[in-house]
Amino acid sequence: MTATSIRGAMQTRPAQCERHGEYESVLLNLGGQRWTGCPHCSAETIEQHQAERDASQAEDLRRLRGQAMFEASGVPRRLQGATLKSYVSDSDEQDAAHRQVCEYAKGLAGHLETGDGLVLMGNMGTGKTHLAVGLIRYATRSLAVPARYVTAPALFSRVRASYGGNGESEAEILDELVAAPLLVIDEIGVGKGSDNELNLTYSLLGQRYDACRPTVIITNLMSEDLRAWLGERVVDRLRETSPVVLFNWESYRGRS
Ligand SMILES: [Zn+2]
Repeated sequence: MTATSIRGAMQTRPAQCERHGEYESVLLNLGGQRWTGCPHCSAETIEQHQAERDASQAEDLRRLRGQAMFEASGVPRRLQGATLKSYVSDSDEQDAAHRQVCEYAKGLAGHLETGDGLVLMGNMGTGKTHLAVGLIRYATRSLAVPARYVTAPALFSRVRASYGGNGESEAEILDELVAAPLLVIDEIGVGKGSDNELNLTYSLLGQRYDACRPTVIITNLMSEDLRAWLGERVVDRLRETSPVVLFNWESYRGRS
């Protein structure tokens, strides 16, 4: 007895799927003969492949968007390779600074609500900018949070150029930086700091404070010098929102 029946030109037979039960298998004549499998299983496989393709396209898109966001942050190309992971610490102090910035990165979602920032303070060449860039990379590429990087001298010269009527205004420049969800200002305290520069800094930090947007400040000045440079009112406000991460190991090395 044969289970095979002929229906028109199509040969079929009943078959059993372990998962979906009975189905009708069809004999295919495509180069060789083959009985079709369970149609429900086939549909599932197709759906699964489609889902995998969709997920990988979404992942590609997400990665491209993160990369574009990182490149738009203003981090100079030369520094773009810096990551939180690639920071090398070979002393307890370096390790502590590294850990503090990584902890901050981990809690970034919360800091974006409260506006709490950081002050990276210490000698040149201690990796403050490296960690700040790592933070920006993490924010943009991993969390899709837009972030901006500026140096204070570049900001001041951009604002000075705007006085010459180059098409942008001081207010527009400030608005752009106030709007950034996360802002890193590097090289605070480089140069003497004219009244205009200090007012600009005060205004930028004040507006970001009012908007609860976190700012990371990088400076080579130690506390008292920073207080003298930025003024009491700015430093008091910073103290309220932004713990200091110390990078002062080179000064120890210098003494020994
Ligand atoms: Zn099946």
